[in-house]
Amino acid sequence: MTVRLSSPDKVLWPDVGLTKADLFAWVTDAAPRLLPQVVDRPLSLKRFPKGVRGKGFFQKDLPDHAPDSIRRWRVWAESADREVAYALVDDVEGLQWLAQQNTIELHPALLRVDRPDRADQLVFDIDPGPMAVSPGRVALWVKEVLDELELVARVKTSGGKGVHVIVPIERRYGPELLRPLTLAIARMVADRHPDELTVEMRKADREGRTLIDWSRGGGSTLIAAWSPRARAEATVAMPLSWDQVDADLDPTRWTMRNALDLDDPWADDGVSPQRLEHARDAVRDAG
Ligand code: ATP
Ligand code: MN
Ligand code: MN
Repeated sequence: MTVRLSSPDKVLWPDVGLTKADLFAWVTDAAPRLLPQVVDRPLSLKRFPKGVRGKGFFQKDLPDHAPDSIRRWRVWAESADREVAYALVDDVEGLQWLAQQNTIELHPALLRVDRPDRADQLVFDIDPGPMAVSPGRVALWVKEVLDELELVARVKTSGGKGVHVIVPIERRYGPELLRPLTLAIARMVADRHPDELTVEMRKADREGRTLIDWSRGGGSTLIAAWSPRARAEATVAMPLSWDQVDADLDPTRWTMRNALDLDDPWADDGVSPQRLEHARDAVRDAG
C-alpha cells in the first residue's frame, strides 16, 4: 500500500513552521523506533485537522474507510456501552495513513491484544503542579524507591509538562495486584518528600504539589514514546537514559526537529519484563 498525502503544505505547528508533510516525514523516519511502541496495542488517536492551535479530538474507532492493512481490534467498551474498533498499526504505511488523517498523537494502551486482561507495565506518570519541582528530580526520587525494590525502570518525557517512569512487567498480574502496588510505591516516594509530592488524584487536594499519578492501568493509555505532541514547540515524547535525567531536565527540549539525532536510549538497554512478587512483599513489610 502506498499512502497518498493530501494538503502536504498545511501548517500544523504554526509556531515552528512544521507542516503535514513534516508529520508524514516524521512517522516515516521514526517508524523503526515508533512501531515497537505501538504494535499489538489498541490505539487511541488524537487528531488535529486544523493544527495544534485548533481543536483536537480523541478518536478510539478506526474510521470505516481506513485501509484493510490497519487491523481492527473490536471490544465492548463498558463506559461507552458500545463496541469500539481500535486501530492496530504494525507497519509504516499504517503510521503514514494516520498522519494523513492529521493524527498527531498516538496513545497506545498499556496492554497487548493477545492478553488484554494483563497490563505489561507499571506506570508512574509524574504530573508537575503549579509549585514547580523539577520533574527530572521527581523521576530520580521514583527511581530511588524502585532501586530499593529491585525493579528496573525506563524513563521518558511526556512531551508535555512531565515525565513517565515505566517498569516493564510480565503479563501475569491483574489490576487487583497492580493498582494497590502502584499506589503503594507512589506513596513511598511521596512520603519521603511530602512538601513536593502527592498521590492525591483530586486537584483540590494537591496544594500545588507534583502528582505521582499511579492510576494508569492496563485499560488506560499513555502517549507513545516517539509520538509528537500537539504543542506549540512540536515536542516529542522522548525516551531517555537515566544519565540524562537530573534537576535541570527540560521536557520540552526534544522536538520533531532534533529527537532523531540521538541514538535510541532504549535500544539494547537490557530492560526486560519483571516479576513483582518481591516488590509486593517488600512493600507489604514496609507498610
Ligand atoms: P503531561 O506530562 O503534560 O502530564 P501526559 O501525556 O502525561 O502529559 P496526562 O494528562 O498526565 O498527560 O495523561 C496521561 C495519559 O493519559 C496521556 O498520555 C493519555 O494517553 C491519557 N489521557 C489523558 N487525558 C486523556 C483524555 N482526555 N482522553 C483520552 N486519554 C487521555
Ligand atoms: Mn502526565
Ligand atoms: Mn496524569
